Amino acid sequence: MKRFIWNTKEIRRFLRKRTVKCFAAGLLAGAAVGVAAVSLYAYGVLSGNDAASAAVSAELSEENEKLREQIDKYHAARHNTETLAGGDAWSLALVNETHPLDTSYVPEELAEIADGYYVDARILADLEQMMNDGAEQGLSMYVTSAYRSYEQQTETFNLSMQNRLGQGMDPLTAYEETRTSVAIPGTSEHATGLAVDIISTEYAELDERQGDTKEQQWLMEHCWEYGFILRYPPEKSDVTGIIFEPWHYRY
Ligand SMILES: [Zn+2]
Repeated sequence: MKRFIWNTKEIRRFLRKRTVKCFAAGLLAGAAVGVAAVSLYAYGVLSGNDAASAAVSAELSEENEKLREQIDKYHAARHNTETLAGGDAWSLALVNETHPLDTSYVPEELAEIADGYYVDARILADLEQMMNDGAEQGLSMYVTSAYRSYEQQTETFNLSMQNRLGQGMDPLTAYEETRTSVAIPGTSEHATGLAVDIISTEYAELDERQGDTKEQQWLMEHCWEYGFILRYPPEKSDVTGIIFEPWHYRY
């Protein structure tokens, strides 16, 4: 049995609400049926031409939308796991906040790229080739983060949030700021084993200036030749919800 921690928690919260309660059976039997039923009910109430009904209808529509988002996430998580596990499209799996990954996903075969750092074995040869070719160009860089399990991601997230709380930030702000630089557990590309953080030996900080190092300049220009792309470009920050990370490469 696969676990969808955030998902079941959210769904349980919805089930407690009276408006959705009557669709609990439908939801359990099939999430899609549940959405259709709520939609139909909302439509029926709306056509009653009554202010109170319209308010109920608006509330239901909102519930419906939230429910749909949860269901989409549920399907995305399942779909991602299947995509990553096999077939030709494994390298195309999209993992982010709206397309989470099953929290129990572990790449079938992990391979060590550096001391204590593992990646999905399917990308090892290309990654090694990229690092070796870079070294041949006189560049000095190393992998500072690779595969991270759900538990490791949770630790990383909590640590980063605690640092912010320690600086006197209030919990909500700390959470919002943390999620722009550390993916919420279950939504990190590092959990796929297909993403690595590579940094320059000369400049080990993870900030925008990392992008100015000759190592990153070379990687940005050549990574595609090895099947990698630089994630979260600065002009897309508003879409990805993640700050520019000129060190995070995804196969
Ligand atoms: Zn990264």
